[in-house]
Amino acid sequence: MFDTHAHVHDAKFDVDRAAMLARAQKAGVERIVTVGCDLADSRRALEVAREFGLQASIGVHPHEARDAPADLAAVLEGLRAEAPVQPVAVGETGLDYYYDHSPRDVQRAVMVAQVRYARERALPLIFHQRDAYDDFAAILRDEFGRPMRGIVHCFTGDEAQARAFVDEFGLLLGIGGVLTFKNAQSLRDAVRAVGLDNIVLETDSPYLAPEPYRGKRNEPAFIAATATRLAELFQTGVADIIARTGANAAALFAP
Ligand SMILES: [Zn+2]
Ligand SMILES: [Zn+2]
Repeated sequence: MFDTHAHVHDAKFDVDRAAMLARAQKAGVERIVTVGCDLADSRRALEVAREFGLQASIGVHPHEARDAPADLAAVLEGLRAEAPVQPVAVGETGLDYYYDHSPRDVQRAVMVAQVRYARERALPLIFHQRDAYDDFAAILRDEFGRPMRGIVHCFTGDEAQARAFVDEFGLLLGIGGVLTFKNAQSLRDAVRAVGLDNIVLETDSPYLAPEPYRGKRNEPAFIAATATRLAELFQTGVADIIARTGANAAALFAP
């Protein structure tokens, strides 16, 4: 299995990171992208990726956009140039108008800077979008287009949004623990509508653990619960889910 979005460098794993990653491996998780949320966090993601043989992304989350430097692209490039392993993506970046931890105009500017940087470097993007669909899509229309590639991680929208991301922008949808929640029927409908060619698995560890671990600290080993739920949804085998979503992810993150 390919966990396309986790934060295994997070301090919540400091107590048992090696054991937690051993559990992931035992559960069949072969690849993990550990995702940076600000510059210091991205540095940490790269270091943990090197130490444990993982992959990492570098970027500034919309929550942290207010602290991004004015010359963000140059700073990201410096980080990449001295990185202990090469980052496989830019992100997570995007817009979060649910929490509004950063002013919205700053979130937009910091997202634009990262999309442009990813284009220059021909890197895929890992997007975070919450309650900001119209502005998010507007930036994509202006700044993002084929052959650029990316994932809308933790996708929890409806069928119309799913189709727009897939059909208009060619994005993949990152599907995690929320899919297993009882009240997520509209998400399950959306996922079924776009089909297995357009989705990848993720955990967003340590957040958003799937049932039956809901509310606990999430970890990549739990991705199997989401894969099992997807197999029920598509009335196919878990091995088929793992193979197809894994191939989507591998193609996206191919160098
Ligand atoms: Zn996110
Ligand atoms: Zn995340």
